[in-house]
Amino acid sequence: MPSKSLFPTRVYSARLGGADWRHFNARLLHECLQTRHDDAAGRRWSKRNYPGGYTSYHSLCRMHTLSPTFARLERGLRRHVSTYASELELDLSGRELALTDCWINIMPQLVVHSLHLHPLSTISGTYYVRTPRGCPGLKFEDPRLDRYMAAPPRRADCRPENRTWHTIQAEAGRLVLFESWLRHEVPPNPVPAERVSVSFNYSWF
Ligand code: FE
Repeated sequence: MPSKSLFPTRVYSARLGGADWRHFNARLLHECLQTRHDDAAGRRWSKRNYPGGYTSYHSLCRMHTLSPTFARLERGLRRHVSTYASELELDLSGRELALTDCWINIMPQLVVHSLHLHPLSTISGTYYVRTPRGCPGLKFEDPRLDRYMAAPPRRADCRPENRTWHTIQAEAGRLVLFESWLRHEVPPNPVPAERVSVSFNYSWF
């Protein structure tokens, strides 16, 4: 092929692993629901800023320091983050790529998480705890979208790397990693059941 791919955007998705992940997820789910119950400040913040949903992002955003279950999740994430950083060929010498934030998201029916990115972080991601059938995935936007001007649309059957949007399905036990500058959203949850996930940021100090 005379052409080559330049400036790729890589998104990583894998199962967390571990033979007892179902048991682990059940425990994680229990703690997520219990935290929502206990976290009055988080519920207040969510009521104003995340209508219908709950997030601990502005109240308990370092769950890995508060709970052994979340600390275990952090240990499970390490090899994936390391693999992803290697694929990106990041030169991380001299400083540590460390987990700085780790928070809970609960999305009941019709709750949406609109387009955003994660400023001040390097690698961000989500681990799925409970994903009722039909719940939304994680939708990524082509970071070059604002420069397309007169570009024609892509063919409907084009390859994933040529699409303007790409959705990774949410699946319990699976994690997704992306560079923190990549804009993404979770479309409205159409099903009458709560979608539960844990999101996190890694920063390079
Ligand atoms: Fe996000």
